[in-house]
Amino acid sequence: MSSQTYDVAIVGGAAVGSAVANFLTHDLGFTGSIAVIERDPTYARAATTLSAASIRQQFSTAENIRMSQFGVAFFRDLKERFGAHADIAFRERGYLLLAGGTGAGTLAANHAVQQGEGADIVLVDPSALAEKFPWLSTADLTLGAFGRTGEGWFDAHALLTLLRNAARQKGARYIHGDVVGIERVGARITGVTLANGERIACGTLVNAAGPQAGDVAALAGIALPVEPRKRCVFVVACRTPLPGMPLTVDPGGVWVRPEGEVYICGVAPPADADTRAGDFEVDYALFEDVVWPALAHRVPAFEALKLQRGWAGHYDYNTLDQNAVIGRHPEIGNFIFANGFSGHGLQQAPATGRAVAELITHQKFVSLDLSLFGYERIAEGRPVKELNVI
Ligand SMILES: Cc1cc2nc3c(=O)[nH]c(=O)nc-3n(C[C@H](O)[C@H](O)[C@H](O)COP(=O)(O)OP(=O)(O)OC[C@H]3O[C@@H](n4cnc5c(N)ncnc54)[C@H](O)[C@@H]3O)c2cc1C
Repeated sequence: MSSQTYDVAIVGGAAVGSAVANFLTHDLGFTGSIAVIERDPTYARAATTLSAASIRQQFSTAENIRMSQFGVAFFRDLKERFGAHADIAFRERGYLLLAGGTGAGTLAANHAVQQGEGADIVLVDPSALAEKFPWLSTADLTLGAFGRTGEGWFDAHALLTLLRNAARQKGARYIHGDVVGIERVGARITGVTLANGERIACGTLVNAAGPQAGDVAALAGIALPVEPRKRCVFVVACRTPLPGMPLTVDPGGVWVRPEGEVYICGVAPPADADTRAGDFEVDYALFEDVVWPALAHRVPAFEALKLQRGWAGHYDYNTLDQNAVIGRHPEIGNFIFANGFSGHGLQQAPATGRAVAELITHQKFVSLDLSLFGYERIAEGRPVKELNVI
C-alpha cells in the first residue's frame, strides 16, 4: 500500500477541521503540506450539518464569549474574506435566556461576566419582556437576558462549504479515508493508517473528529473524555406570527427559534437518559412529553403548533466539563486537540481554526489565549465548568 507524507494531517474535515486548514492556508501563511482526512465527504452525520447553527455570547466562561465574539466578527467579515458571493444567511436576531425563581441570580452572574467581555446583552425584567415580546407568557418569569447584537443563527452547510473550498484552493488536500490507526513512536505521532490500508505520515496530527474525537485519541493510546451524545431537533409550524422572536431558551432548557417560515426546537434529554449515542433515531416522545408542553406554556400560540419532522445529531460531548479541549498533548507534542465543544463547536470553529493554526505556525496562541482549555486539565481531572450549555 502507498504512503504519503504531509506536514500536517487533520482527522475530520467538517467545520473545525476545515477551519484549521483554512486559517493555516490563508491567515497564517503556513507553507507546509496539509492533508484533511474525512471518512464521509457528504457530511451526512457530522455534527456540523445536523446542528442548530446558532451563535451566542451568553456563556459563563470568558474564553467562550471571546471565541464566539471572533465567530461573529468572522461572519460579518465573510465577503471580505471569501468574496462577494459568500453568504451564510447570518441572522443576527439574538438569544433570549429566561429565568424563573432563583434562576435570576445565575443569569445575572453570567451577565456580569458577559458585560466584562463587552457583550451586548441586556437584562430584561418580566414587564419589559411582555412589552418587547408580546407573544411570550411571562407570569412565572423573574428575569430574561437578551442579546441585542452579536447573536443569532446561520447556514452551517454554507459555512462548511466556504471554509473547505477556500482551504482546497490554497492547496490543502482533502482525502476520503477512515482513520483506523495512529502510529506513535515514543512521544511522537508519526502517521495514521486508513481503513483501506493506506498510510499517511505526518509532522503534526490534529484531532478534529467531532463526536468521534475520543475514539480517535484512543487510537494513539490517549484518554479523551469526548463521546457522541444524541440531540434531537424538531421542526414545527405555527399559524400565529411571533414577531421578532430570538432564539428563546425556557428556564427548563427547552429552546426554540425561527427557521424561515417554520421554527426549530429541542431540549437535552434527562441526565439519566443522556448516555453515549449509537443511533440517529428521533426521540419523538421527548417532543410530546417535554418540548411541546414547555413551548405551549411559554408561547400560548404554540398550543396549536404542528410538528412537521425531526432529526437527530450527535453532540461532541466533553463528559468532564462540557467545554472545548484545544491545544497540544502535554507529552505527545505533535498531537493537537480541537474537540469536545459540547454544543457550541460550530460557532467556535473560526476561533478554534485560528488558535490551532497559530499553535502549528507560531508554537503558541497569538490572538487569543486558550490555555484554559488545554488538555492538562483533563489529565488532572480539573473541570472548567461551562454553566450555559444549551
Ligand atoms: C443537534 C445539534 C445542535 C447543535 N447546535 C449547535 C449550535 O446551535 N451552535 C453551535 O455552535 N454548535 C452546535 N452544535 C455543535 C456543533 O455542531 C459541533 O460542536 C461542531 O459542528 C463540531 O464540529 P467538528 O468539525 O468538530 O465535528 P463534526 O462536524 O462532527 O465533524 C467531524 C468529522 O470527522 C469525521 N471523522 C470522525 N472520525 C473520523 C475518522 N476516524 N477518520 C476520518 N474522519 C473522521 C466525521 O466524518 C465528521 O465529518 C450542535 C450539534 C448538534 C448535534
